[in-house]
Amino acid sequence: MTKLRLAIVGAGPAGIYAADILLKAERKFDVSIDLFEQLPAPYGLVRYGVAPDHPRIKGIVSALREVLDRGDIRIFGNVRYGADITLDDLKRHYNAVIFATGAIRDTSLDIPGIEAAGSYGAADFVSWFDGHPDVPRTWPLTAESVAVIGNGNVALDVSRMLAKHVDDLLPTEIPENVYEGLRSSPVTDVHVFGRRGPAQVKFTPLELRELGELRDVDMVVYDEDFDYDDASRAAIASNKQVMVIDRVLQAWRKRPSANNYASAPEPVERASRRLHLHFWAKPLEVRKDAEGRVSSFVYERTRPDGEGGVVGTGEIREVPVQAIYRAVGYFGSPLPGVPFDKRHGVIPNHEGQALHKDSNERVPGVYATGWIKRGPVGLIGHTKSDAMETVRHLINDQGSWWQPSDPSEESIPALLDARAVRWTDLDGWHRLDQHEVARGLPHGRARVKVVPREEMVQVSRAE
Ligand SMILES: Cc1cc2nc3c(=O)[nH]c(=O)nc-3n(C[C@H](O)[C@H](O)[C@H](O)COP(=O)(O)OP(=O)(O)OC[C@H]3O[C@@H](n4cnc5c(N)ncnc54)[C@H](O)[C@@H]3O)c2cc1C
Repeated sequence: MTKLRLAIVGAGPAGIYAADILLKAERKFDVSIDLFEQLPAPYGLVRYGVAPDHPRIKGIVSALREVLDRGDIRIFGNVRYGADITLDDLKRHYNAVIFATGAIRDTSLDIPGIEAAGSYGAADFVSWFDGHPDVPRTWPLTAESVAVIGNGNVALDVSRMLAKHVDDLLPTEIPENVYEGLRSSPVTDVHVFGRRGPAQVKFTPLELRELGELRDVDMVVYDEDFDYDDASRAAIASNKQVMVIDRVLQAWRKRPSANNYASAPEPVERASRRLHLHFWAKPLEVRKDAEGRVSSFVYERTRPDGEGGVVGTGEIREVPVQAIYRAVGYFGSPLPGVPFDKRHGVIPNHEGQALHKDSNERVPGVYATGWIKRGPVGLIGHTKSDAMETVRHLINDQGSWWQPSDPSEESIPALLDARAVRWTDLDGWHRLDQHEVARGLPHGRARVKVVPREEMVQVSRAE
């Protein structure tokens, strides 16, 4: 029986689901899969993107863990494709490769002043609060007023993490350095800005509603943003998700908050922090002080153009802030030897089969799945259907697989050892996992993450 030796690069949900689906698929050949991951721990953005106070989602880790724990997929952690292992290596030892490398960088936002000190990408902040080993340990949390640009769930995560009182994060797995950093934050006001209206946001209702449950944080929405046009009314009437979002926002309009305390029927206790949602706000400029630090955010009021878009009204507003976070999307990174679509930040592909950039011809043996295949949108569940499509093609393409000169399984650890790569395996991940859980136990916490890469590797390799 023929055997498919498959390399998968990236042990996020997309890579793990692809391996699982292939192993369970009906096929006429044996399979042996090696999963390469640049970090010493698997699970990609589930570990380093999903916010620590979303343990329900982190529960997906249990499903992914079950797949790895079956033991029929080899995992090589702390191995970076492009540095520790190359496309030529893969061609020598495998029949095909699936890239599942996701997206970790921020999309740029080209407005004047965006490079100011105190202006950050959401992805970097997320990596910091989730304890990613490759970002600095400290984060400058010195601003009292902060702007967050974007109307998707990442903007909500960033705003919530900034506004939430840090002791309410204690039961979660936030690393110690993150707890200490957030504890010193003097923040009082977080302003979230979106270009379009409340009926056009990309938030999901659950994540939006959660903001209203934050202790000692007032939600502030502004009546002027709710003058709906026909398209907005139609969206609310026809889409259940938009309807719920509208209902949540309308409830906040009625709540006593910073902008209507005076009209409250009875005196109300003021929260010490406020989270403002501003709609119809097109980013124009980040203004700086004499030292080059963020001093304000300038935007233009927009209005609906009647065709689902917005146009500027010419009305310019300025909000004093000392920090800005742009949460306008993630972006994939190019991989050496593999075609890359610079505009969309993905591997050009047809249903997961990689394509040459200019000719659109198939690149034999090379596949993509997850965010590096279709761009950084969609939830973890979507990576499963993605993987099904990619794996279907991989199975049907048997005639165009590579013919490796050394498909032996022993060749891979030997190759990595010869290059002095300190790779980790599934047992190593179990050691790190247990170590983190044990660190959390005395404090009643689910786990305390190990952040420095060197320490992760040492614990994993029991060095
Ligand atoms: C801030 C944030 C919050 C989110 N919250 C939720 C949520 O609450 N619920 C939900 O369902 N979805 C959420 N998502 C979406 C979810 O994280 C993605 O749908 C999913 O992680 C995409 O999976 P992926 O495997 O394609 O990419 P990733 O999860 O990014 O995995 C890619 C893996 O590839 C590895 N890799 C990259 N380059 C290399 C290389 N050169 N060599 C070796 N390995 C490499 C990376 O280290 C990573 O482990 C969130 C996303 C973000 C950004």
